[in-house]
Amino acid sequence: MPTVFLQVAIPTPLRRRFDYLPPLDISPEQAMQLQPGTLLRLPFGHQEVIGVLLSVETEASVAPGQLRHALAIIDSSPAFMPDILALCLWAADYYQSPVGEALHTALPALLRQGEIARLRTEAVYRLTTAGKGLPAGSLKRAPRQSALLTALQEHPYLTRGDLQALEIPLTAIKPLVDKGLITCSEQVLTPEPTRTILREQPLTLNPEQAAALEHISLDQFQVYLLDGATGSGKTEIYLQTIARSLGQGKQALVLIPEIGLTPQTLQRFQRRFAVPIVALHSGLNDRERLDAWVQARDGIARVIIGTRSAIFTPLKEPGIIIVDEEHDNSFKQQDGFRYSARDLAVMRASQLKIPLLLGSATPALESLNNAQQGRYQYLRLTHRAGAALPPSIQLLDIRAQPLHEGFAQETLQAIAAEIQARHQVLIFINRRGYAPTLECHDCGWLANCNHCDARMTVHQQPRHLHCHHCDHQRPIPSRCPHCHSHQLQPLGHGTERSEAALRQLFPHTRILRVDRDSTRSKHAMHRLLEEVQAGEPCILVGTQMLAKGHHFPLVTLVVIIDADAGLFSTDFRGPERMGQLLLQVAGRAGRADKPGKVILQSHHTEHPLVQTLMLQGYHALAELLLHERRVTQLPPYRHLALLRAESKRPELAVEFLRLARAQAEQWQPTSPHFTYLGPLPAMMEKRGDRFRYQLQFNSAQRKTLQQLLTQLAAHLEGEPLGKRVRWSIDVDPQEMS
Ligand code: ADP
Ligand code: ZN
Ligand code: ZN
Repeated sequence: MPTVFLQVAIPTPLRRRFDYLPPLDISPEQAMQLQPGTLLRLPFGHQEVIGVLLSVETEASVAPGQLRHALAIIDSSPAFMPDILALCLWAADYYQSPVGEALHTALPALLRQGEIARLRTEAVYRLTTAGKGLPAGSLKRAPRQSALLTALQEHPYLTRGDLQALEIPLTAIKPLVDKGLITCSEQVLTPEPTRTILREQPLTLNPEQAAALEHISLDQFQVYLLDGATGSGKTEIYLQTIARSLGQGKQALVLIPEIGLTPQTLQRFQRRFAVPIVALHSGLNDRERLDAWVQARDGIARVIIGTRSAIFTPLKEPGIIIVDEEHDNSFKQQDGFRYSARDLAVMRASQLKIPLLLGSATPALESLNNAQQGRYQYLRLTHRAGAALPPSIQLLDIRAQPLHEGFAQETLQAIAAEIQARHQVLIFINRRGYAPTLECHDCGWLANCNHCDARMTVHQQPRHLHCHHCDHQRPIPSRCPHCHSHQLQPLGHGTERSEAALRQLFPHTRILRVDRDSTRSKHAMHRLLEEVQAGEPCILVGTQMLAKGHHFPLVTLVVIIDADAGLFSTDFRGPERMGQLLLQVAGRAGRADKPGKVILQSHHTEHPLVQTLMLQGYHALAELLLHERRVTQLPPYRHLALLRAESKRPELAVEFLRLARAQAEQWQPTSPHFTYLGPLPAMMEKRGDRFRYQLQFNSAQRKTLQQLLTQLAAHLEGEPLGKRVRWSIDVDPQEMS
């Protein structure tokens, strides 16, 4: 038997694999049997780390005498299923990430800490013989208990998750156990292929929806772009497609944006499906997250809903992947392993030979282009499903108009009229805090952050100045630090200030602020939503947290205080994002039986982007922007990557990028098909006391870029200056800052 080596990935920033000898307590034959994806405990320097077995080899990269033994095998069944391992390896390559970091990102935290992934026992409720003998309609005076009994008559057993989905409170259990009607036992769940799929009847589709559903084939890999306005019934199509997939004994994976996974969304799935559903959201603790992961892997959970990292959830019987709001920025991880979950979904679906459904009211330009090129099948829903009418949009020119705390007179009248009619109003202002900064009226001093090239935001609750970029905080000065004047005044408007203004203007109306600050505590958002749902007239003021996911059926007026922010962004994606955000916000108006209205205040009503968006809609804007991108040679027509470097000493970062460019140009000279830009300062050159620069690569061919970056990354790891700066590669960057 030759010597056996284990090639492993370790979570370090180094872009290489490591060789180990097998643990001392297993034989070479046993070592040969180890599966890729198995987790191992390993000595690494003076530490112990958990690594992932990539392959078992009989030739090592270094002499065996220099190799150390792995300490132990954590679990002989691999933590990575072959398809997830393959996906991660592909992604590590594509995104130029160290493979250990990529694999690490894909695992639930407890597995990274050495836990074993096993199904745990769960409390399960069943009818006793006495319970089964009870005639229907008994216990009328205890409606909750009665509901539980009825549900148990329809299902062989129910778990706590089921009860939650059925909205039966857990308090109904004990009295029934005490009466000897039901029992509770702990057991390991097993997949139930015979379980009923639907809990409620699906809606009858309108012709457009029916045509879209008809086109979706479950039997092969195909990407579908479901492009339909807010309220056009995309979710209903997801539900019915999933139902078909479940009917074939398959599982469904649904990805949604970070703040899109609301209790409302989850309830909608739970109301529709009787099968076990797990949601991987930020409210779960590590244990719950691992349990959900195991349930997906073992086929217990049939529908898995989660945010970005859920793309790595193992599935026993994958049937379909859905990415809702596919244009959303939160699908791209912005640090460490900088993957795009939407783009990985394409890869994963293709590996699994299953369909992928991308849905949005405002598809990313990349996706629209893919549809135009025929790579994605394009499904369009043009009008709202159900009774709701599209909102009417009014572009309000506020140049030279007197504004009261940012509101035009006409806007205030419109708000008053809606409140009078006992409707709800939503006000969108994409800045939290009281005001974007503090200004001295006498000398023009502005409150800058000492650590960033940015202004400090004024907050009143509690009173302080806060840098939203580095988190630096300081008290609000009573005098100008420059001229000692007392004339310091907040400049511009944030949510707190609009809230305060509205309280004065509408003293008898509930004003609810929704932003990161007001929803920090655990149940705050939930309470806010309950209050809105209660249906009393109110004014909601908030940031983009209001724009996504939540359903506000009683909102009839949406006001966008300042539509101009995205127009002059230096990021080439600025106008695209502005268009998406404005339409998402506008889509909140008039979702139920009341027609909606949107008022958009702007200083630039004649701006071609604003005109196009408002008069012709998102798709016309997208066409315009795509044309621009083609002319300026930007994505989706070219492929971009950024090499970023930052350092407390600016000259080091710049020098590092200069060296990188010089080296890269030797391998890949500048040409019409391949260009370099930089080193240039990042949009915010100084942030958190570090100076930030970037080098941009722009290539006509993905492959050329890919090869160059791989070669360059390996080279930069050996570059001494690379140890003195922080550097990273971002492939398909979404934020150029
Ligand atoms: P989207 O996901 O595109 O925003 P939804 O699927 O949430 O749209 O549908 C918007 C509203 O219209 C929901 O209240 C939904 O119940 C309703 N709806 C969707 N499809 C239909 C249909 N075919 N018939 C009646 N109502 C529908
Ligand atoms: Zn001053
Ligand atoms: Zn700062």
